[in-house]
Amino acid sequence: MNVVVMGTGYVGTTMALLLAERGHRVTGLDKDLDKIGRLQSGSLYFHEPGMERILRQYLHRGSLTFTGNAEEAIAHAEAIFICVGTPALPDGTPDLSYVREASAMIGRHMKSHLLVVVKSTVPVGTSENIARWIRSAQPEPLEVDVVSNPEFLREGSAWQDATQPDRIIIGARNPQAAWRLRNLYEPIYCPVLVTDPSTAEMVKYAANGFLAAKISFINELSRLCDKLNINVDEVSAGICYDSRIGPSLMKAGIGYGGSCFPKDVSALLATAKQHNCRLSILERVVRVNETQPGYVLDKLIRGLGGLDGKTVAVLGLAFKPNTDDTRESPSLRIVRGLLNRRAKVRVHDPVAKWPQARSKRQPEVCAAAEQALAGADAAILCTDWPEYGRLDWGSIRKTMRTPLFIDGRNMLDAEKMKSLGFRYEGVGIQ
Ligand code: NAD
Repeated sequence: MNVVVMGTGYVGTTMALLLAERGHRVTGLDKDLDKIGRLQSGSLYFHEPGMERILRQYLHRGSLTFTGNAEEAIAHAEAIFICVGTPALPDGTPDLSYVREASAMIGRHMKSHLLVVVKSTVPVGTSENIARWIRSAQPEPLEVDVVSNPEFLREGSAWQDATQPDRIIIGARNPQAAWRLRNLYEPIYCPVLVTDPSTAEMVKYAANGFLAAKISFINELSRLCDKLNINVDEVSAGICYDSRIGPSLMKAGIGYGGSCFPKDVSALLATAKQHNCRLSILERVVRVNETQPGYVLDKLIRGLGGLDGKTVAVLGLAFKPNTDDTRESPSLRIVRGLLNRRAKVRVHDPVAKWPQARSKRQPEVCAAAEQALAGADAAILCTDWPEYGRLDWGSIRKTMRTPLFIDGRNMLDAEKMKSLGFRYEGVGIQ
């Protein structure tokens, strides 16, 4: 089938590769011509393990191509996947202007019956609106089936999540459209749940709301563990053997970030507010998450007895390992908090770049973690990149001015760090 993927960000690029792998002729369409140029030349412009090789493979085979020419791409499409961004507006509702613009482009340029698949995370009712937006842009009436198909991939393991999903949710009014989408994904080895579009849209928000709640639950509990001198990681291990709880995301730290959890929880809360319905658990989830970077930063400030003129090394900028994505990263809040308190800040990340080059106070960006740590009064680990576990901490300890180490991801072995002479504190680990 001729498939167009609109928006070649994390989700769109992964989808384009998946659909090429499933044997379709795929065109990645984006209005950002820089991204298009880089993808077409075989360069993945973001960090996602293993995916650049796959990109080159399908470009080379000729089953995948990238373009900025919407008219031509849409005219030949049999199915279009909308993967454009839906960032949060200041009031917490998602900005649907990109989705609306993409819908109008589809309406303007489509030449025959189309299956339109909504992968972007959008509020309940949007898929129905997309159908209206497409129709109202059509020069002449043509049939269109709009299907909601929320995406659950995680940055850092996008290819694995796309090729081996744990479920596929299809929200369709027309059962034939649901079957057409199912066939596009064949072979499928996971449960497929077919619902109406609104339910499918809600599934995505409910999933991210619940996952965010898990993180805030253990983070809030870590504060009590600190007071009671209890190791929260051991508590976490103890409860996670219960299959109803499970181990994933049950690790205390500086809080969640990224392009999804913060904005999707805000969007769900905004939807609830519009319908005069209070989601008080999620309100608290957000509150815990907003205060968690400050809670961990306070450990460092207390440990140093103030920050003025002190040099602090921050390890990790990305919101999680194996990605260069710093959107809503709690690490940035910690860096800003340090800079605002007049600390000298040295940052390191294996792949992510410091994203705020225009702000007044700037950290020193270091090419190596050892460089950031040498001569520092304290260090704070903000992203649990595996390479930080492999550093020679014994040697690093000798290069630091004061050996205060705050482990914002409970990544390193507390006892080992202490035996090397560090004043080590984790989150809910004393
Ligand atoms: P992104 O910001 O990385 O990419 C969006 C792309 O859409 C950009 O390249 C932009 O130039 C392009 N675009 C905007 N308007 C366009 C138009 N009219 N025509 C063509 N291209 C257009 O976004 P992302 O992280 O890939 O997320 C996309 C959607 O998927 C969002 O709704 C997000 O919530 C959802 N999602 C993201 C993830 C994730 O891990 N990133 C996971 C699941 C779902």
